[in-house]
Amino acid sequence: MITITLPDGSERSVPVGTPVSVFAQDALPGGVVRKALAAYVDDTLVDLSFPLNANARLRILTPDGPDALYVYRHSTAHLLAAAVTQLFPEAQCGIGPPIDDGFFYDFVVNRPFLPEDLEKIEKRMKELAAQDLPYERQMWARDEAIEFFKKRGEPLKVQLIQEKTEGQSHVSCYTIKDRETFVDFCVGPHVPSTAKLKAFKVLHASSAYWKGDAKGTPMQRIYGTAFFKDDDLKQYLTRIEESKKRDHRRIGKDLGLFMFHTWAPGAAFWLGKGTTLYNTLANYMREVLFPAGYSEVKTPLIFNKSLWETSGHWQHYRENMFLVESKDDSERADSPRAAGTERGEGAPASDGVGSLRAKPSEPTNAVKAMNCPGHMLVFGSETRSYRDLPLRLHEQTPLHRNEASGVLAGLTRVRQFSQDDAHCFVMESQIGEEVERLLQLVKRVYGDFGLSYDVKLSTRPAEYLGEKATWDHAEAELTRALQVTGVPFRVDEGDGAFYGPKIDFDVTDAIGRKWQCATIQLDYQMPQRFDLKYIGPDNAEHRPVVIHRAIFGSFERFIAMLIEHYAGAFPLWLAPVQIAILPLADRHVEWAEAVRSRLAEAGFRVQVDGRVEKIGYKIREAQLQKVPYMLVMGDREAADQTVAVRSRTGGDLGARPLDDFLAVVRDEVLRRQ
Ligand SMILES: [Zn+2]
Ligand SMILES: [Zn+2]
Repeated sequence: MITITLPDGSERSVPVGTPVSVFAQDALPGGVVRKALAAYVDDTLVDLSFPLNANARLRILTPDGPDALYVYRHSTAHLLAAAVTQLFPEAQCGIGPPIDDGFFYDFVVNRPFLPEDLEKIEKRMKELAAQDLPYERQMWARDEAIEFFKKRGEPLKVQLIQEKTEGQSHVSCYTIKDRETFVDFCVGPHVPSTAKLKAFKVLHASSAYWKGDAKGTPMQRIYGTAFFKDDDLKQYLTRIEESKKRDHRRIGKDLGLFMFHTWAPGAAFWLGKGTTLYNTLANYMREVLFPAGYSEVKTPLIFNKSLWETSGHWQHYRENMFLVESKDDSERADSPRAAGTERGEGAPASDGVGSLRAKPSEPTNAVKAMNCPGHMLVFGSETRSYRDLPLRLHEQTPLHRNEASGVLAGLTRVRQFSQDDAHCFVMESQIGEEVERLLQLVKRVYGDFGLSYDVKLSTRPAEYLGEKATWDHAEAELTRALQVTGVPFRVDEGDGAFYGPKIDFDVTDAIGRKWQCATIQLDYQMPQRFDLKYIGPDNAEHRPVVIHRAIFGSFERFIAMLIEHYAGAFPLWLAPVQIAILPLADRHVEWAEAVRSRLAEAGFRVQVDGRVEKIGYKIREAQLQKVPYMLVMGDREAADQTVAVRSRTGGDLGARPLDDFLAVVRDEVLRRQ
C-alpha cells in the first residue's frame, strides 16, 4: 500500500499501481471527477490513467486550473492530426504544440490545404470527439517505435524519436482509440477522452518548414483554437474578425497614412496624413517631457565600432545591426602602409599582411540600433555634479535593427523606427523618486489616450551582473514607487534583464488585446562600461545609475496599436484631417475658403473639398476617411456666415456661427476626447 496526500492535507492508502482515475472515483467528490482533465502527482502533470506507484501528493487538474487550457489545446491538436491522417492518408505528421491562442499542427502533404479541406477536417474532428475515444499512453520499446513509424512512412517522427530519446529503452506514444485510428510520439499528458473536447475550430492553413528552417522540408501548418466553453470560442472568433477589420495595414492604406516598398523592407514611407499623425504624437510627447525636466537631443545615426565595443553591442548584438563601410575602411584594406601601421612599426611583412590585403574590408561602423550608448557619450562629455542629477536626455531620431525579412509585418515588426526614448541619469538615492515620476508620466500619457494597462515588475534573473545588495536595493525602490503610485502590478521573479530590474507596461486595446509599450529599466552596467562619474556632495567621484525608459515604445508600433484601437477613427486631437469643409456649389467656395483660413489660423487641420461632386458623395467620402467634423456650406450658411456641422459619429448637428463651432472643437482638443 502507498499513501496519497490530497491538497487539503488528508491522506489515503491505496494499492500500488492504482490509476489516478480510479483513486479519484473513490476519494474525490463527483463534481471534481467529472471535470478532471489530468492530474499533478508531486507537481508533475500526468494523465488520469497514470499509475500511482509511490507515496505522493495528488491534485486534480480541472478546467479552471492554470495548465488546463494548455493540456486541452494540446489534446485538440492530436485530434486534428487524427482527422488529417484519416482524410489524407499520405500526410506525414510533424509537431503540434499548443500556442497562445490555440494550437497548430504541421504536416507534409502533396498540396496545400484548401478551405474546403479545413471544413472537412473540422467535421471529422467533431465526429471523432462525439465517439468518446480514449487517449491512451503506451510505452513502446524504442527500436520498435522507430521501426513502426518508419514503416508507416513517418520519417519526421523517426527523427524526433531518435533526437529526443537517445539512451532511453522505451518511448512514450499515445493512441486515440487504437494504433489504426491514430498514434503519435508524445510525452503527454492529454485529456482522458475525445469527448472532453467540445468548443474547437480549425482556423486557417499556412506554409511552414520542418523545425522552422527555410532549408528544411516544406510543410503545411494548420492553425486551430479550442476553449472550454462555446461562448469563449464565439467571443474569440468575433475578436479575430474584429482584428481583421481593424488591421492597421489595411486602414493605413485606406486612410493614406503610410506605405511600404520592397526596396526598403521594414521601413515605412510616411505619407502626408501619416506624417501629420506621427508629428502630432512626437510633439505631444515633447510637450509632456519638456515640463518634466527632459532635454531633447539628436545624436549621430552612424557610430564607429569603438562605441559599440564599449557598450558591448559589437560583441553581442552585431548581427542585429546594419554595418556600414566608410572610406577609411577600404583605404586601410587596400593600402599596405596602413596595414603595416595596424600591425605595428617594423612588423615583418608576413602572410598576415598578404591575407589582410586580400580580404574584403570589414565595416567599422554601425547604424545605431538604440540611443543609449550615444547618450553615455553626452553624459561623459563634461564634468557632472550631483546638482545636475537627475539628468534626462530625450531623443526621437531613427533607429535601425536588421530583422530577418520573414518576420517583418506592417508597422509592428520593422527595421527602421523611432522611439520616445530617454535616459535618466540619477544617483543611487534618487532611483525611487525618479521611478515614481516616471510612473506618473506613464499614467498621464495613457490616460490621455484612454488606454488601460497592466504593470509587471521583473526582478533579478539567475544570471546577473553586479552585487546582490545593489539589486535588492533597486528592487525595493521600484516596489515602493509602484506602491506609492497606487498602480496594481504583478511581479515576475527572475525575469529582469541581466543588467538591472525593470517595469513593463502592457496596454489593452479596444478589443481586449495586449500590446507591450512602455518600459522602465534600471541599468548599473552601462555607466560602468563608459566609466561615467559625477562629483558627489562629498567632493568624491561616484557612478550614476541610468534608467532607460520609453512610454510609447516605438512610434511605429504605438501608431499601429492606435490605428487598431480606434479602428482608424482617431479622436479630434489626433486626426490627421480634423475638419472637412464641403461647399455645395462653386458659389459657396469663397465662404468655405474664409472658414478654412479662420480654422487653420486657430491651429486646426482643415481641408476643403471643392470638387464638383454631389454633396452626398463628399460627405460619404469624408466619413470613410474618418474625418471627425464636416462643415457643409450652402446658400444659407454663406448668407448668414454660419457653418452647418456634421460629426462623424453624431450626424447632422445643425447650423451655428463659426465662433460657436470653434469654441466646441477647441474644448474637445483640450480635453483630448
Ligand atoms: Zn501530445
Ligand atoms: Zn536605452
